[in-house]
Amino acid sequence: MRYLSGDEEKTALEHICNAVVIAQNATCERSKCGAVIVQGDEVIGQGYNSPPGDYESQRRCSCSKASYHKKVTDKTCCIHAEQRAIMDALRNNPEKVAGSRLYFIRLDTDGNVLKAGKPYCTICSKMALDVGVAEFVLWHEEGVCVYGTEEYNRLSFEFGDGCGYGRCV
Ligand SMILES: [Zn+2]
Ligand SMILES: [Zn+2]
Repeated sequence: MRYLSGDEEKTALEHICNAVVIAQNATCERSKCGAVIVQGDEVIGQGYNSPPGDYESQRRCSCSKASYHKKVTDKTCCIHAEQRAIMDALRNNPEKVAGSRLYFIRLDTDGNVLKAGKPYCTICSKMALDVGVAEFVLWHEEGVCVYGTEEYNRLSFEFGDGCGYGRCV
């Protein structure tokens, strides 16, 4: 991972601003997120979080994560913004996904940008890595940070480590 500065940071913040606008379409009741995938200067995919297929019948935003059986590994309610952006890119620009960069942002319920903590979403980190997204960008308190997707996936599985969680030994 490395923090961006100068023109690189400026360009990244423009893409993050774009993701903020997209996040405003999110209908998830827990959080509003947006993601854009960029290849070169071109936006090749974008997405926000909402129930799968936007089926209201499938909305699970108010279900407690503790209520699911341990075999239910994905306890998040909606399709994630990153998943949507990846599927959008695969659908519309499949030949441009390899080597692309994904920008992610989360808003509070008033629409204000929330700075990201450490990566933890293994659903999205695995999917991004599998399709060839090369880099993942989060906006931390410390600045705009770019991760290689392999690193991002490993860190996501090691989230909260300190007691050996996430380490395959
Ligand atoms: Zn939701
Ligand atoms: Zn995710």
